[in-house]
Amino acid sequence: GGSASASTIKQVKLERESELRIEVGNETPLKLRLLNGSAEIFGSELAPEMWLTFPPRLKFAVFTWYGATIEMNGATETDYTADETPMVSYVNVHAVLEGRRNRAKALSPNDSEASQGPRVIVVGPTDSGKSTLSRMLLSWAAKQGWKPTFVDLDIGQGSITVPGCIAATPIELPIDPVEGIPLEMPLVYFYGHTTPSNNVDLYKTLVNELAQMLETQFARNAESRAAGMVINTMGWIEGTGYELLLHAIDTFKANVVLVLGQEKLFSMLKAVAKSKPNVDVVKLQKSGGVVSRNAKYRQKSRGYRIREYFYGLANDLSPHSNIANFSDLLVYRIGGGPQAPRSALPIGADPIANPLRVTPVNIDRDLLHMVLAVSYAKEPDQILSSNVAGFIYITDIDIQRKKITYLAPSAGELPSKYLIMGTLTWLET
Ligand code: ADP
Repeated sequence: GGSASASTIKQVKLERESELRIEVGNETPLKLRLLNGSAEIFGSELAPEMWLTFPPRLKFAVFTWYGATIEMNGATETDYTADETPMVSYVNVHAVLEGRRNRAKALSPNDSEASQGPRVIVVGPTDSGKSTLSRMLLSWAAKQGWKPTFVDLDIGQGSITVPGCIAATPIELPIDPVEGIPLEMPLVYFYGHTTPSNNVDLYKTLVNELAQMLETQFARNAESRAAGMVINTMGWIEGTGYELLLHAIDTFKANVVLVLGQEKLFSMLKAVAKSKPNVDVVKLQKSGGVVSRNAKYRQKSRGYRIREYFYGLANDLSPHSNIANFSDLLVYRIGGGPQAPRSALPIGADPIANPLRVTPVNIDRDLLHMVLAVSYAKEPDQILSSNVAGFIYITDIDIQRKKITYLAPSAGELPSKYLIMGTLTWLET
């Protein structure tokens, strides 16, 4: 019960190679600092004595390699110490990747094949610790001066931007334990739904676009090529989900596949890799600290992500409410759309709408509470292949006056009038 009681200060002594697992209470933030020794949160080292403030509901662990004393101030849902963790195996993977980065760097940048650092893809069921492991590998690499690229293909619980997107961003510093992935210049593609089954073709198309774009960037940047990438994936590993994993492995030319907590997936991928001599498939233990989140929790945390995009983690951003004429904004949707009933089609015609068709959307009340992406496209036929600048949230539609009110991260004109609509909605609370 995380109700704000009188402040509770508590010290915890951690032995070497153990961790303090914490779920912050539902209502109030938790303050925490390193009193002595050394410790890290998901690969990012804590500065001595500096208080950090963790928002309600956050789940994390403070791990120490050599021993530490931690001080906490505030209410937690749970906090306990664990001395059995898979961290040694995780850091061993990091050491192997580090070796490959150094080898790639030492080789001539003209040999684009040999000077390519590791491309790691992390796979496993939901709540196996994929995002967390990705984060550790990135932070450990950044600590040693690399700038690896983080690719997030998880449209349900992505950590780069709002849900419904796939995205990539270079990681130049260990990831901040509170703020998470820096949002400076991410490369974002808007899929618009939180499950891939809504439009598998679109998902694949965007994965192709993102991979191609990164390939272009790597071609002219030896530093980021040698640092390589860490790719986080969705927890959907059965049927079409499995197919999408194979598609991602191929498309990003992954050469290290880390499988978390699932024997079956591991052996399936191992079998596939037999025909791919330069792909290593490695099985890793899931951490006992990973917290399972049910569908309702996931749904809620999607809402928090959207809120965070507009208002900031600590309500430190001030989004702008803007009013536009219907005629100022051009809204498009990809695929789906109203399908002609079978009876209206010629005999033998395929009633499935083209999943990649880009069609204009009439502005009406249906847009209310939708989150739309602002495309970088200059023409409608570029929408499918363009990344997005950011997002707006529709707060009012006035049919009579033909005015649309929306929330945007800042005031002023949108970078483009082309907006993409999916099924992503949000109820501001
Ligand atoms: P996945 O990406 O496989 O769905 P995550 O890495 O997001 O799983 O982990 C699920 C949740 O568990 C997250 O909230 C994460 O912060 C938390 N978590 C992961 N590892 C630990 C740990 N060792 N101790 C406490 N919480 C953890």
